[in-house]
Amino acid sequence: MSGKMMLVDVTKCTACRGCQSACKNWNMLPGNETSFTGNYENPPDLGPSTWTRVAFNEVVEGTTVRWSFAKIQCMHCDDPVCAAVCPYMAISKNAQTGAVTVNRDVCIGCGFCQVFCPYEIPRVNNQNKKVYKCTMCHDRVASGLLPACVQTCPVQALQFGAEDQLFTAAKQRVNFLRRNGYPRAQLYGLWDGKPVGRVIYVLADDPDRYKLLDDPAPKLGSYFVEATLKPLQALAVAGLAAGVFFRAQEDRTPSGDE
Ligand code: SF4
Ligand code: SF4
Ligand code: SF4
Repeated sequence: MSGKMMLVDVTKCTACRGCQSACKNWNMLPGNETSFTGNYENPPDLGPSTWTRVAFNEVVEGTTVRWSFAKIQCMHCDDPVCAAVCPYMAISKNAQTGAVTVNRDVCIGCGFCQVFCPYEIPRVNNQNKKVYKCTMCHDRVASGLLPACVQTCPVQALQFGAEDQLFTAAKQRVNFLRRNGYPRAQLYGLWDGKPVGRVIYVLADDPDRYKLLDDPAPKLGSYFVEATLKPLQALAVAGLAAGVFFRAQEDRTPSGDE
């Protein structure tokens, strides 16, 4: 492994939602009007202008209500299905930072990435037909800064640093939790024992306790893509190239011939 990674330690999160606000602030995303749904979770889902949120899970145990919190955002997969299914190759992984980002000059808002992302992350804005998601603050990271959400977290539930170092720290934290009253403590965001991307979680319990999708199998998704969707992608690119060619031919046609 090499490069940078984000560690989300949900056992430290207090659900202050500073990370949500910092993300909106840095990325100049508008607020969303929401209404009370019987749970303090707000907003209830990601959206084109909500690239991260803190999921609240309420579990009633006897007479006690227990909360479980988890910050949700793009995992910045090393083998991103969203990029593989995009017919216009609008999504790419930055080799330097590891961030998976969308080129909205090319995106047509078809929503393939939204449908196929194993973590249900990208969201299409139906007004401008463009897709939006967490960028891993690649602009900040490329300048040596921390992602805005990490910088803001007051209890260091979010950390950002060298992959090897953070992966080791995460495993040590899980071992500590298991020895100290959380026998189900575990890492999340792994496939075959390795991180699927640039975000891993330390959980005190099973993923569904945090509204995290259980075993999203991102690699299986990409095998499916290779077998079935790549040919469609090639057709889309060929169609685009043909369109550009015929448009160029039309542009060269003298006006008197029309
Ligand atoms: S979590 Fe989804 S949107 Fe993010 S890189 Fe992976 S496949 Fe793409
Ligand atoms: S890394 Fe940046 S874009 Fe992603 S959730 Fe954090 S603040 Fe938002
Ligand atoms: S800023 Fe930190 S403590 Fe606050 S909600 Fe986000 S992850 Fe949790």
